[in-house]
Amino acid sequence: MKNIIFIAPPAAGKGTQSKLLNEKYNIPHISTGDLLREEISKGTDLGNKIAETMNTGSLISDDIVLGLLEKRLKDDDTNKGFILDGFPRNTNQAIILDELLEKLNKKIDYVIVLDLDREIAKKRIIGRLSCPKCGAIYNELFEELKPLNEGICNIDETQLIKRADDNETTFDKRYDTYIEQTSPLIDYYSNKGLIYNIDSSISKEYTFKQIEDILNIKE
Ligand code: AMP
Repeated sequence: MKNIIFIAPPAAGKGTQSKLLNEKYNIPHISTGDLLREEISKGTDLGNKIAETMNTGSLISDDIVLGLLEKRLKDDDTNKGFILDGFPRNTNQAIILDELLEKLNKKIDYVIVLDLDREIAKKRIIGRLSCPKCGAIYNELFEELKPLNEGICNIDETQLIKRADDNETTFDKRYDTYIEQTSPLIDYYSNKGLIYNIDSSISKEYTFKQIEDILNIKE
């Protein structure tokens, strides 16, 4: 089974890699960041509350995230595997996830850590642009990742957008939160023999190849 968790600092590519895996192997991609952003776009009271916290770079409360995640994990398509992108983010969430998966008769098979130095992560975040229509990611600070026409998607010519939490102040807070709250999960899953590390500073193609090699180990 391919039940996968990604642990990574902001901009290490967990969203991109999850999307590539989803496209190639048809494994459902569950991003708690996306589930939260969907709630924000509905403009509900809950969505407004989430937006306020997300824009400071802090984590949303465990019970809100868990509610959204539990609903998604109960969908039948997750019986053939799933990718968790952005969950768990702290030890409490990891413990709750273990309990939830036991209840659903599922378990985690791989925890993939994408390592990325703080300075590279910062540049990737500050220059990041995405297409709201097809999800393609660009970066105005890396020559090779700029869109062909400034601010416009190469694929469908949609105006590119910047995420509200992709700025320098929020980046610092998000990276610190990762180090303080999320990186202890590496020990948590290491003790269960599930951790695989990848240097994600090289290229998205290199990272993807490493992930495929890891997943093939247990074919
Ligand atoms: P991401 O899209 O994974 O970079 O997440 C963006 C933001 O969503 C984070 O900075 C948090 O504010 C929030 N978020 C995403 N996943 C979680 C989670 N598992 N627990 C708490 N907050 C989360």
